Amino acid sequence: MRTPIFAANWKMNHGPSQARAFMAAFLSAYSPRKDRSVVLFPPAISLTTVRDALGGRHDIVLGVQNIYKEDKGAFTGETSAPMAVDAGAKVALVGHSERRHVFGETDEQCAKKCAAAFRAGLTPMLCVGETLAQRESGDTESVVLRQLAAVVTTLAADQVARLVIAYEPVWAIGTGRNATPDDAAQVHAAIRRWFSSQSGAANDVPVLYGGSVNTKNAASLLAAPGVDGLLVGGASLDAEAWTAICRT
Ligand code: PEP
Repeated sequence: MRTPIFAANWKMNHGPSQARAFMAAFLSAYSPRKDRSVVLFPPAISLTTVRDALGGRHDIVLGVQNIYKEDKGAFTGETSAPMAVDAGAKVALVGHSERRHVFGETDEQCAKKCAAAFRAGLTPMLCVGETLAQRESGDTESVVLRQLAAVVTTLAADQVARLVIAYEPVWAIGTGRNATPDDAAQVHAAIRRWFSSQSGAANDVPVLYGGSVNTKNAASLLAAPGVDGLLVGGASLDAEAWTAICRT
């Protein structure tokens, strides 16, 4: 069994002052546990604040919400993977639905960002998921597997083995409408089957569920077959709610 991963995506919330206050509350409430991993994705501007607040809490891993495909240069406003590493990140979210749908990121760009993450030593957490229209037209699996294949087939086998996947149906993100455990289990099984058909080495890739996870539904979603952890947006902004979810 894979160790469950609890990942918090703060999106564009919690600048340095709020991040500091959140960390004080969360660290005093949540004690290290060996049976789970916790990952925090603050906005880039709060990375070093969270890193400094973590101090010796090596049980909590820091991640960056987005990176650029290039390592440095004239790309105003972007954050490179090496810079994120310098600020304490070990994981990079790639292809979050807000990046794909608000900023128009393509599968090809996601593949380049994963390559940049690996070059810098970051673990990419690749997000995949269908829109409501795609689900209603019966295209969920084909969309999710296309997004997966577009990135995974560009990677070397040892990189695939280090990848983390987050299945996040677009219609469930920030909407209060979560997938049922059965919905999640079906797509997770399809993802797992796809990995098995590609190479035996990739059978251990963790697949998280994300989309309107909260303190009430976290346990049932985490218990769904094939769900190896949770990626949580809105409900991770409150230290008390996030602590409760991490104790699921
Ligand atoms: C997310 O931002 O990845 C997410 C799942 O958001 P929410 O939990 O708010 O739906």
